[in-house]
Amino acid sequence: MPHSVKKQSYITLAISVLFSVFVVIALVFLNGVVSKLNTETESLAHDMVHGNHKAIDAMIKADVSTITNYAACSSKYKNRVRVDLMSELKKLTEDSGMLNIIIIDEQGESISHRNEKINVSHREYFKKAMNGEIVISESIYSEPDQRMVNVIAAPIYGDYQRVIGVVAGMCNSDVYKDVLNLSVKGHENNAVGYVIDSNGNVLMEGNNLFGDYVPVKDNLFESVFLKNLTEQEITLLKDEFNKKESHGMVSVDTDNGKYVSYYTTFSVDENLHYFVIFPADVVYGKLDEYISKTLILFLFFIGVLALIVIAYFVFTYNSFKALKKANEEITKVAYEDTLTGYGTWGKFEKDAQYLLSQSYRKYAFVSFDIDKFKAINDMFGHEEGNRILKQIADVVNRNLNNHETFSRINSDNFYLLLVYKSDEDMAERIKRIIYALEYEITNFAPVISFGIYRITDNKLTIRKMGDLADIAKRTVKYGERSSYAFYNEEMLKEIREEKHIENEMQNALDSHEFCVYFQPKVSLGETPYLMGAEALVRWIKNDTVVSPAKFIPLFERNGFIVKLDYYVMEQVCYMMKTWESLGYKDIMISVNMSRVHLADPAFPDTLKSICDDYAIPTSRIEIEITESAAFESLEVLTKVFDKLKSLGFHISIDDFGSGYSSLNMLKDLPADVLKIDRAFLTESVNNKRANDIIAYVIKMARSLGMETICEGIESNEQVTLLKRLGCDMAQGYYYARPMAPHGFEEILKKKHDTIKII
Ligand code: C2E
Ligand code: MG
Ligand code: MG
Repeated sequence: MPHSVKKQSYITLAISVLFSVFVVIALVFLNGVVSKLNTETESLAHDMVHGNHKAIDAMIKADVSTITNYAACSSKYKNRVRVDLMSELKKLTEDSGMLNIIIIDEQGESISHRNEKINVSHREYFKKAMNGEIVISESIYSEPDQRMVNVIAAPIYGDYQRVIGVVAGMCNSDVYKDVLNLSVKGHENNAVGYVIDSNGNVLMEGNNLFGDYVPVKDNLFESVFLKNLTEQEITLLKDEFNKKESHGMVSVDTDNGKYVSYYTTFSVDENLHYFVIFPADVVYGKLDEYISKTLILFLFFIGVLALIVIAYFVFTYNSFKALKKANEEITKVAYEDTLTGYGTWGKFEKDAQYLLSQSYRKYAFVSFDIDKFKAINDMFGHEEGNRILKQIADVVNRNLNNHETFSRINSDNFYLLLVYKSDEDMAERIKRIIYALEYEITNFAPVISFGIYRITDNKLTIRKMGDLADIAKRTVKYGERSSYAFYNEEMLKEIREEKHIENEMQNALDSHEFCVYFQPKVSLGETPYLMGAEALVRWIKNDTVVSPAKFIPLFERNGFIVKLDYYVMEQVCYMMKTWESLGYKDIMISVNMSRVHLADPAFPDTLKSICDDYAIPTSRIEIEITESAAFESLEVLTKVFDKLKSLGFHISIDDFGSGYSSLNMLKDLPADVLKIDRAFLTESVNNKRANDIIAYVIKMARSLGMETICEGIESNEQVTLLKRLGCDMAQGYYYARPMAPHGFEEILKKKHDTIKII
C-alpha cells in the first residue's frame, strides 16, 4: 500500500472513531439533559409546592389531633352533665379555630356548644367514624354554619373497644382553599391545589384560577384534567397514590394547553395527597435559563463536531483532488510520449492487449525504424531529429484505421498493430506509409526498414511479438532503399546462425580461419594494365568459403570488425613484403576499413604502425571507406581522411552511388579515388540518363583531382562504356574474381598478359 494511502486510511479511521465518540457523548449528554430536565422540573415543582404542603399538612395534623385527642378522653361523655359538656365543646372550638366541634351519639344525634340538635346519621363521615375510622371528609355544606366545611371525625370508644359515639370538627373549607392555591411570581395563572384521597376523591379544592376550564372535578381519575391520559397511565397514577410517601409528576397536553401537576402525600395520613396543577410554562419558564445554557453548550458541541467533520471532508476532498491530479500526471507520464504526443510503450502494450483480446479480428505486428538515424541526429542536430520523429508519428497516425494502434518504443523505433487481411494488403499499406514518410521528410531521403509479424499466436506476449517483427526488420536493414519483410521461421534460424558465428569469431581469428583474397584492379587505358588489387576477407571454415556478406554486417554491429580489419591489414602487409622479396615492389593494394573505426581517433596511427612493422610504405596502401561513412559524421570523416593523407595513405571512397550520394560532399573529402558502385553500372548500360550521370560523376571527380574506378565489371560492353565515359580503372569478374594470395602471385608473375586474356 502506498504511504499516502496508508496515512489516509489512518486519518479516516481516527476521524470515524472520533465521530463515534462524539455521537455517543452527544447521546449521553442529550439523555442526561432530558433526565436532568425531568428531575429539575420535579424539584422545581417540589420547591414551589413545599411551603404550602407543609402548611396544609400542619393544619390538618393539628385539626386531626384536636379531634382524636378529644375523642380519646370522651369515653365517659354520656355520664357527664350536658351543660358542662357544651361549655367544654365551646372552649375547644374556640381554641382550635374550627367552626364547630360536636359530639354525636350512636343514633347520630349531635351535641354542640350552640345547643343545636341535629341528626347526622346520614352523613358519610359519621358512618365511617362509627366504623372506627378517623375521617377527613370532602367539602360538604353545613346547614348550621351556612358554608362549605370539611369534617374531621374520630370514633369514641367505650368499654370493650366498642364505638359509642363520634367527635366531629367542622373546618372552614375556605381556610384550606386559601392555602391550597400557590402563587408563583411572574405568572398570571398560578397553580391550583387539591387534597385528594387514594381513590382520587377531591376532599379540598383551591379556587379555580383557570377560568372556564376546570382541571379537576369531584374525582381526579374521572376529571377533565386526566381525560388525555391513557387507561394505563391512570392505573399507574392510582398505584402511585397507594404508595406511602409517594410524590411525582404528570404532564398532560390538553386543548387549553400544556399542564404539569405535582403530587405528594401528607404525613398525617398516607391516603391523602396534595395535588397541584400548573400551566406548564410556570415550571418551564423557570427552566428556560437552564435549558438555554444547556442548549448553547450542546449547540457549541455540535458545532465543533460539524467543524471537525467539515474540515475532514475538505481535507479529504483536497487530498483526493491532489491524488487524482498526481494519478493523472503519472498516467500521462506512463502513457504519453512527450516527444511525439502519442502513446508510449506502456500504452501500446495495454491497447494491443485489449485489441488482441477481440479474437474475431486478425492482426499484424509491425516494427520499423530509420536506418542510421543516429547519423541524422549528428548531421542535422537533435532538435531536427526530434522534429522528424514527430513527423513520422503524425504520418503513422494518419495512416491508422479503426481498431489499430501504434507507438514510438524508443529512439526511432516504432511499433504498429494493424488489422491483417492478406500479405498483399499489408504490403500495400506498408508501401503507402513508406511513400507518405518519404514525402513528408524532405531534407534527406530516409531509408526505412519494416518487419511484419502476422499474429498467428495471440498468446504470445506483446514484447515477444515485437521481437519477432524486429527479427524480420533486421533482415532488410541497411539496404539501399526502404523495404519490408514478413517474419518467417527461417529468420529465426539466421539469428541463431549469427549467435553461432559470434561464439566462434574470436577462435576463428586466432586459428587463422580468416584469409585475405585479392581481386585485381585494371587500368582502362588503351592496353589494360594491372594496377594492383583489393584485399577482401574470407572465412574458410571446414574447407568452405564464407562470404563477408554473412559476417561483416554482424561484426560491424558487435564491433569485432575492428580486430578483423587490423588483422587483414597485417596480412596484406605480410603478403606485400613477401611479394616485394619476389621483386614486385610497385604493387598497390587497397584495404577495406569499416566506418566503425571512425569512432577511434587513434585509427590512422594504428594503421601506420602496422605498415611500419612490415616496413611497407603507406603510399602503397589505399584505404577504402564506404561513402555511407559520411553519414556518421562528415566532419569526423574529413578529419580522419586528412590524418590518413598526412600519414601518406591513399584514400578511396567505396560504393559511391549506392546510398546517400552527395556530389557536394566530395569537395570536402581529400580522397584520391572515387569507386563507383556496381549497382550504378548495372542499371546504366542501356540507360541514357544513367550513363549521363556516370559521365558527370567521372568528370566531376576528375575536376576535383580524383581518379575513378568502377567495380563489378562483368562484361565487355561495360568496359567499352566505361572507357568511353573516361573512367580510369575497373575491377570485376570480367577480369578476375577475388583469389587466394598464391593465385594473385601467379598473376603478378605474368602481369599484364594474364589480365588481358580474361
Ligand atoms: P566492396 O569493398 O565493395 O568489395 C567488392 C565486392 O564486390 C566484393 O565482394 C567482391 O567479391 C564483389 N565483386 C567484385 N567484382 C564483382 C563482379 O564482377 N560482380 C559481382 N557480383 N561482385 C563483384 P565481397 O568480397 O563479398 O565483399 C563484400 C563487401 O564486404 C565488400 O564490398 C566490403 O565492403 C566488405 N569487405 C570485404 N572484405 C572486407 C574487409 O577486410 N574489411 C572490411 N571492413 N570490409 C570488407
Ligand atoms: Mg571495397
Ligand atoms: Mg565496393
